[in-house]
Amino acid sequence: MITYDADFQIFASSLINKPGYFSGFTTRAVGDGRKTSTISNFLNLSEIKYQKVVIPEQIHSANVAIFRNRDRENYAKIEETDGVITQDNEVVLTTVTADCCPMIFKDEMTGTIGISHVGWRGSLKRMPQKMVARMEEVGSRPENIAAAIGPTIGDCCYDVTDDRYYQFLEEDESQATQVFNHHGGKWHLNLAFLNYLLLREVGIKKENIDHFPFCTKCDRRFFSYRRDKKEDYGEMFSFVVKSV
Ligand SMILES: [Zn+2]
Repeated sequence: MITYDADFQIFASSLINKPGYFSGFTTRAVGDGRKTSTISNFLNLSEIKYQKVVIPEQIHSANVAIFRNRDRENYAKIEETDGVITQDNEVVLTTVTADCCPMIFKDEMTGTIGISHVGWRGSLKRMPQKMVARMEEVGSRPENIAAAIGPTIGDCCYDVTDDRYYQFLEEDESQATQVFNHHGGKWHLNLAFLNYLLLREVGIKKENIDHFPFCTKCDRRFFSYRRDKKEDYGEMFSFVVKSV
């Protein structure tokens, strides 16, 4: 279940937030997550115990890094990656999005957490499945993995070019017919549902997946690239950290 925490102004998944695990999808009210000061202010206010903050570069790839090096600086930027997993304690994994889809992963059996930034390019490259595969490399089994699909642009607002629709059709026809619908003369992509189907395809259980009912463009509690790009544009950050 997704719940709103009014103190921190974040949404969080009850599948991820269990004793020893803390995660959230921040709202516009928290500020622009592209600034590290926004992230540190938030972490200090929320009294999260942490040693490192990990920031993936985000290049619309399906690259997933494993963060192990605890000797890095307090803010560790990881180049050329859109996903990161770790088994270390007090390492805050982050991602920033505004319409693209943030996803948070957890496996309590192996004590693994993960985060990823998934736009349409990442989905086309099956990023959610790459995250699961990386977690399997460090011992996780799909049936133990919980995933939360964060606030993203809804198919109400996510119109795409015909070319893009055909790209998805070529990749997986039966999936494409489920995640695209045609209205207002254009194809619209349901990015959250696509990421859900990608998770299901590699064995993540239905009951272990949380997702949002909101559209970042319709709902002004969120930053939206498509809505705000000309005015007050920022990005929300999402995070996950463990201490067990
Ligand atoms: Zn919408």
